[in-house]
Amino acid sequence: MDQRSAACHHESTHDQSTWGSACGVSRQPVGRRPHPSPLPALYKLFNKTPGVRYFALLHFAVLFPFSENESMRFLSTLLTRIASEPYLRRSLRSGLLPSLSPARAGDRIFAWSRALAPLAVAAGAALAFDLRPVAAPSLCDAGLDLRVGGKDSTDLVVKGVHREVPNKFIQELKDILQDNLTLDFEERFFHGKPQNSFHRAVNVPDVVVFPRSQDDVQKIIAACNKYKVPIVPYGGATSIEGHTLAPHGGVCINMSLMKKIKSLNVEDLDIVVEPGIGWIELNEYLKSYGLFFPLDPGPGATIGGMCATRCSGSLAVRYGTMRDNVINLQVVLANGEVIKTGSRARKSAAGYDLTRLLIGSEGTLGIITEVTLRLQRLPQHSVVAMCNFQTIKDAADVAIATMLSGIQVSRVELLDEVQVKAINMANGKNLPEVPTLMFEFIGTEAYAREQTLIVQKIVSEHNGSDFVFVEDADAKNELWKIRKEALWACYAMAPNNYEAMITDVCVPLSRLAECISISKQELDASPLLCMVLAHAGDGNFHTIIMFDPDQEEQRQEAERLNHFMVQTALSLEGTCTGEHGVGTGKMKYMEKELGIGALRTMKRIKSVLDPNDIMNPGKLIPPHVCI
Ligand SMILES: Cc1cc2nc3c(=O)[nH]c(=O)nc-3n(C[C@H](O)[C@H](O)[C@H](O)COP(=O)(O)OP(=O)(O)OC[C@H]3O[C@@H](n4cnc5c(N)ncnc54)[C@H](O)[C@@H]3O)c2cc1C
Repeated sequence: MDQRSAACHHESTHDQSTWGSACGVSRQPVGRRPHPSPLPALYKLFNKTPGVRYFALLHFAVLFPFSENESMRFLSTLLTRIASEPYLRRSLRSGLLPSLSPARAGDRIFAWSRALAPLAVAAGAALAFDLRPVAAPSLCDAGLDLRVGGKDSTDLVVKGVHREVPNKFIQELKDILQDNLTLDFEERFFHGKPQNSFHRAVNVPDVVVFPRSQDDVQKIIAACNKYKVPIVPYGGATSIEGHTLAPHGGVCINMSLMKKIKSLNVEDLDIVVEPGIGWIELNEYLKSYGLFFPLDPGPGATIGGMCATRCSGSLAVRYGTMRDNVINLQVVLANGEVIKTGSRARKSAAGYDLTRLLIGSEGTLGIITEVTLRLQRLPQHSVVAMCNFQTIKDAADVAIATMLSGIQVSRVELLDEVQVKAINMANGKNLPEVPTLMFEFIGTEAYAREQTLIVQKIVSEHNGSDFVFVEDADAKNELWKIRKEALWACYAMAPNNYEAMITDVCVPLSRLAECISISKQELDASPLLCMVLAHAGDGNFHTIIMFDPDQEEQRQEAERLNHFMVQTALSLEGTCTGEHGVGTGKMKYMEKELGIGALRTMKRIKSVLDPNDIMNPGKLIPPHVCI
């Protein structure tokens, strides 16, 4: 049985006409409500009082619906004890059938079959009411193996179902978009394959569309909703967790033609843009105004994709994440309606915060068509400093001490010795191959230098060495460029066909050193090539695990390490994803991190806003969550 059917096979009412996650908009709960169990008391009574046994067994049928796990546990304990203890066997026989003392073999069989009759009735009743024991299967549960690619595999949710899209639908899209649509296989394959993610594509989109306006987006979504065809928004495709894969085929909506700057309001420090513009292009444009937008995820990322993943980057420690830097959104919902989530005012207390609901929604609630961003003044002066450590723990300790000192650093980035080696190899550098911290201090010249000296002292108190700093603009830009492209340096260090599995855990700052040290021990013991780099000021770190995708044992080892780090972070009150988002890859950790109640709430929101489950189906909310 595949994972989808294993997770949801009890759902006889599953609406086959809709696309999307395994459960669609389901009508039956998977997990029953927790119910205060009368079973322990009943079990005691059963053991002590023969007259109650018959009654107890009959109650099994009644209890089954409310607490199937306990009922099963009760049943199996009962049968095991009957099998293993002669006095119970006797007691069952005499308790249930006091008048029967079988002399012949036939009578004995008859006696036992009558003794087990209540059990059969109980099980039969339960099955008759379709109340088979399907507990909410936690995908984090090591005991459950519902995964397509084996235990702990990240493949599980990329498995999709695909229906041919009707010709009538394609014709409607052509009428809306004319030439801005392609059915070319190469293009569809390119859009459906992971660009920066290690997740496998199991389908390609049926069609790729390139809207030019909000009006186009509205019409495309209305057509998708009418024909119940999945729609996968596509920005710069730099996301890491299989966000833009099309497991169910459908429409890939590439937002690259919607990249206009609609208005720049220098006095208000904000800008209104279309979602397809990249953060690098935007900053090029803003430079001449002495402004910048302070989020720096993967080169090539677009503002729409950045909103949808709630991304951050190296500057988040100073300026916050995308959550803190978006003032207003315009969004086309699954029913084709356009909404705005706020005004251009910097703050607002007007009702539910829809901006933040949509930020991080990964294209599952609507398509962002316009974004108002908060801007920052380019700092007068900045200093970039670097220093080295014997151990990664010392480096993490300094990052924590710096944050606690109250200095408003604008960046604190940590690299382990393997990552520095990769950078040296890819960039022809000669940096010391030891755990390294990179800082940026900003402000007036005097203030930036003062902060530099304070941190230099902290470093010397924590076994740090080789503290150097640069103020020359080109040197600073080069250092940050090297850091930003660290992922590609890792590829340069591994054989050609290798892939990178990238982890993204984040823990409370005080737990960072512990989390990194535990992880590093495990990584060093692994035969795989692993690099660590961290946005250390936020308690967020990545491990880049290089593996040969054709070697199954390497893939499994990479997944084991990934899983180990997530479990470690969760045990330290952290998260499985600090900034990359859930996509398909992190779904299996969502229940453990947030609890089933939060996931059901998400699912309820999703099913109200997108009842046909057309918006990026199969992502973010694990398939076993049903409402
Ligand atoms: C080298 C490298 C470095 C990186 N560094 C960082 C980092 O420091 N910090 C960080 O946070 N991330 C980082 N990332 C990850 C990535 O850059 C971010 O997740 C980024 O926000 C994705 O933006 P995108 O435009 O590429 O989105 P895509 O990958 O195209 O899409 C991401 C998600 O957004 C949805 N989406 C796209 N556009 C829209 C829209 N208009 N409306 C609704 N949904 C939409 C998609 O359906 C998808 O679910 C890095 C990636 C790489 C390759």
